[in-house]
Amino acid sequence: MCGIVGYIGQRQAYPILIKGLHRLEYRGYDSAGIALINPAGELGVFKTKGKVADLEALVANRDVSGTVGIGHTRWATHGEPNDANAHPHYSQTKNLALIHNGIIENYAVIKNELKGHGYNFRSETDTEVLVQFIEYVKSSGNLDLFHAVQVALSQVVGAYAIAVIDKNNPDCIVAARKSSPLVIGIGEGEYFLGSDASPIIEYTDQVVYLEDEQVALISRSHGLDVRNLSDVEQTPEVKTLQLSLSQLEKGGYPHFMLKEINEQPDTLVNCISGRIDPAGTDVILSGVINNKEKFLNAKRIIMVACGTSWHAGMIGKYLIEDLCRIPVDVEYASEFRYRNPVLGKGDIVIAISQSGETADTLAAIQEARKAGAFVYGICNAVGSSIARATHSGSYIHVGPEIGVASTKAFTGQVMVLSMLALTLGKLKGTIKKGEYRDLIKDLISIPTKMKQVLLLDPLIDEMSKIFTYAHNFLYLGRGYNYPAAMEGALKLKEISYIHAEGYPAAEMKHGPIALVDAEMPVVVLATADRIYEKTVSNIQEIKARKGKVIAVVTEGDTVASSLADYVIAVPPTNERFTALVTAIPLQLLAYHIAVNKGKDVDQPRNLAKSVTVE
Ligand code: GLU
Repeated sequence: MCGIVGYIGQRQAYPILIKGLHRLEYRGYDSAGIALINPAGELGVFKTKGKVADLEALVANRDVSGTVGIGHTRWATHGEPNDANAHPHYSQTKNLALIHNGIIENYAVIKNELKGHGYNFRSETDTEVLVQFIEYVKSSGNLDLFHAVQVALSQVVGAYAIAVIDKNNPDCIVAARKSSPLVIGIGEGEYFLGSDASPIIEYTDQVVYLEDEQVALISRSHGLDVRNLSDVEQTPEVKTLQLSLSQLEKGGYPHFMLKEINEQPDTLVNCISGRIDPAGTDVILSGVINNKEKFLNAKRIIMVACGTSWHAGMIGKYLIEDLCRIPVDVEYASEFRYRNPVLGKGDIVIAISQSGETADTLAAIQEARKAGAFVYGICNAVGSSIARATHSGSYIHVGPEIGVASTKAFTGQVMVLSMLALTLGKLKGTIKKGEYRDLIKDLISIPTKMKQVLLLDPLIDEMSKIFTYAHNFLYLGRGYNYPAAMEGALKLKEISYIHAEGYPAAEMKHGPIALVDAEMPVVVLATADRIYEKTVSNIQEIKARKGKVIAVVTEGDTVASSLADYVIAVPPTNERFTALVTAIPLQLLAYHIAVNKGKDVDQPRNLAKSVTVE
């Protein structure tokens, strides 16, 4: 998510900062800004909503001289993308300026406390709370910036990569990280800072990757001093960058899609952070709690979405009906908007969209609002049209998704819907206490399981070679595995241009089985669940017609595995959340087949990332 750049040395910082921000643009962002200390000792902050080019236009006739500075591209989480919320943020006295990637979860408590001490806020961000807090700690404890940052961060809950500069000490930058990357580039009498190495590599290949809860004092005259939050000295390991600039822009991956597939364990941690308490006893999706009466009295829920989001909606239906006993319909937004649907007060419409700009979904929201329904949004892009057009909602917080074929947004949507079902099931009393705890535990374990599944990549890469020239594919599953199968088929279709159908496994015999022959690869999701034996029977039916079965099974499986031609084994997972784990091998299979075919994985033909036309 978003970008950080910094410079301290003998050169003018501005050109380095701007170039660095351009290098970080691939990550996706909504606003940009810089802070510099000029030779007269003034700390200037320049920031704007929009692109780095807008920032350049903004500062065209301004004094941007100085040999120390920080820059940021923001991808909004707290507060809409606008000039005031853009980073850097000043402290109250304007002596400090700070940039931040991540989320400060306990910002509201700290903000209230600071208000009590007379602090005022110019933005809605969690980030501004942090810089004010650092200043408060600094002045009340009579500390220097470095120690104030250590003390303040010891009291912060959340994720951060930060860089701070102090007008009264233009000789240093203080930087720190937790759960959000930060790299320090070491030059000759100069230092560079980046949220990844892309703004640095042009100047030096010597870098230090900060570790969690490390704070760095980067001083022009005294060099680099890295300590932990308790002020214990750390020995930074200087590494030599091996990557080329073009690789770095994709974080070392050949495609954004592969990068995003691999990010999923982290993006889901981000998605649940602040929503599931660390002890794993409770899930609180605030959008549901804040609209408790509406959700408790809902007669029906209707999901409206398109594409991958529609598949996530289908999983949401299974979850909500299963755990909350409320009937749920799932509609294609494009159909819903034109077919005069029956709905009204007492209905809840949940609109799902990664970009929050999907034209059909937006139109469906307008229809729903006109009919008096309560509309809840689930999207990724903060401040997007859907976020504004809905009554309430939840962000999935998975960071910008650049690959056109959605991967981490799908798992983020399913995760939010899982948390929604748990929050609502608890409110309604439809989930037993013990079961509720167990389900939360299962949900928390998903990122670790995803990491295990990602290790299967070489196996799936090998397997993909066998199927590169297939003309058709079937994807089958029952229960929760059915929407997961549809999503798997869509991934393959989108990027490899191979025709693929996702079908309920038992429904195959009512039509698609006619297609099965020795040439037909069939991916069967046969993980351990209540209807595993039934799925095994479907595998038998395919094998009887000589179809080639690729079975996705649970580790330790014997029956389906012995029938299948190829086996992908995933860790045991509660069937309700299994799509979060099986999504990864299906994404990887589609990815490798498309790469084998030489297709443009990140920008497949005819497709757009944000579908703003109907
Ligand atoms: N949570 C911060 C904000 O909304 C930082 C967002 C980012 O990582 O760019 O301003």
